[in-house]
Amino acid sequence: MNYDIIVIGSGPGGYVTAIRAAQLGFKTAIIEKENLGGICLNWGCIPTKALLKSAQVFHYINHAEDYGLNKVEGTFEFPNVIQRSRGVANKMSKGIEFLMKKNKIDVIMGTAKVQKGKKVSVTDKEGKTTEYTGTHIIIATGARSRELPNLPQDGKKVIGYRQALSLPEQPKSMIVVGSGAIGVEFADFYNTMGTKVTVVEFMPNIVPVEDEEISKHLEKSLKKTGIEIMTNASVESVDTSGEGVKATVKTAKGNITLEADILLSAVGIAANIENIGLEEVGIQTDKGRVLVNEWYETSVPGYYAIGDLIPTQALAHVASAEGITCVEKIKGMHVEKIDYGNIPGCTYCHPEVASVGLTEKQAKEKGYEIKVGKFPLSASGKATANGNTDGFIKVIFDAKYGEWLGCHMIGEGVTDMVAEAVVARKLETTGHEIIKSIHPHPTVSEAIMEAAAAAYGEVIHI
Ligand SMILES: Cc1cc2nc3c(=O)[nH]c(=O)nc-3n(C[C@H](O)[C@H](O)[C@H](O)COP(=O)(O)OP(=O)(O)OC[C@H]3O[C@@H](n4cnc5c(N)ncnc54)[C@H](O)[C@@H]3O)c2cc1C
Repeated sequence: MNYDIIVIGSGPGGYVTAIRAAQLGFKTAIIEKENLGGICLNWGCIPTKALLKSAQVFHYINHAEDYGLNKVEGTFEFPNVIQRSRGVANKMSKGIEFLMKKNKIDVIMGTAKVQKGKKVSVTDKEGKTTEYTGTHIIIATGARSRELPNLPQDGKKVIGYRQALSLPEQPKSMIVVGSGAIGVEFADFYNTMGTKVTVVEFMPNIVPVEDEEISKHLEKSLKKTGIEIMTNASVESVDTSGEGVKATVKTAKGNITLEADILLSAVGIAANIENIGLEEVGIQTDKGRVLVNEWYETSVPGYYAIGDLIPTQALAHVASAEGITCVEKIKGMHVEKIDYGNIPGCTYCHPEVASVGLTEKQAKEKGYEIKVGKFPLSASGKATANGNTDGFIKVIFDAKYGEWLGCHMIGEGVTDMVAEAVVARKLETTGHEIIKSIHPHPTVSEAIMEAAAAAYGEVIHI
């Protein structure tokens, strides 16, 4: 019952932390109340990508003629599509079980609560409570769908992401509130499968954290596929008393009423800080997140927090990196602090969006004199062969020293290309070094090299 490290929560923050801790020789336990793998594997990153893949395949089937094939009409049973996604999630969760065994990490199933004296109590399904002691306790309890007071989720007509991933039948129409990555991915999936989708976004642009040009381009592309998009609009109230949902939406031109079978609330997340013993131990929180220093130590020595629970970017790869940094520091290794300015962000709708670093607006606000290069995918041989030329690459360099300030991409496959910019920026690569790094032909990645060349007036293919 005594461990060097106890990790609470087995999402990409928790399970990765536990594996790295075990690798470093710590006697490690991980506590999970639901499924190994957390939101990411069970209700987030992975099952959404499985649904989006089904939608993409369906789209390709229906566009067979574009590839010189005979016309076919794709058909599907919606429960089977959901079942495939759930199967992928379960498989990944089982994989974590294997990794825990392989690394000799004790898995304790139950609901954990931290206590004073570096103790953790765990209550299992039968209601039995057991106490464990850890020299270091790392809290990674993650987050859940955020509920707005005027958009209470009933799980049936007003739903969150969990229900959107497991609906028993396909809705004919859906209102998606919020156009961050989660909202846009579900909008794309349901629209491609034939649901009439309307997206309502409070901000002037969809995917509001992205470079404005990317947001505007995505808006146009999604509208072309039939998604209705309302920006500068907010849902004031919902009425679920009738057959479907009626949402009153405030717009610049006054209030309007939208009707649909279902409303998906995708307005962000709320960290799981309640009932985990934070107050009893004296761990400080602010605005609903746990406060930590740069090594993820909370206000109470011996207790740490990582992942969606703390006020950093709520992304799986961030949670994992924080956990690794946290345990390596505990081990006394020479560790670099995480550079939160070099975190890639991806949205897996069609076309995909991927970015890292400063947007053009942010770079200008920071006082940089910049060089901007753009390359349209319509000029890429590989994108043309793929039949997916919608999109472009935009790169931003500091005019003085050539530092790569930002990379913004929209198009098929860009989420697999953004890592190049992350590594290059980490290595302080300049624009000219990108131009002189020979990219393979034909690949869509050549467009990055060409965009860099465009910034310096050396572009070849436009
Ligand atoms: C629909 C959707 C799509 C997403 N897509 C992406 C994506 O494509 N890429 C990306 O990077 N991120 C994506 N995310 C975000 C990503 O899922 C989260 O950033 C990530 O899961 C956070 O990891 P975590 O370890 O902090 O917490 P979580 O994954 O939330 O895991 C926390 C775990 O702690 C457990 N827990 C909570 N309280 C207790 C307790 N008291 N005792 C024991 N266990 C407890 C929970 O059951 C859960 O398993 C997506 C999220 C959603 C909702």
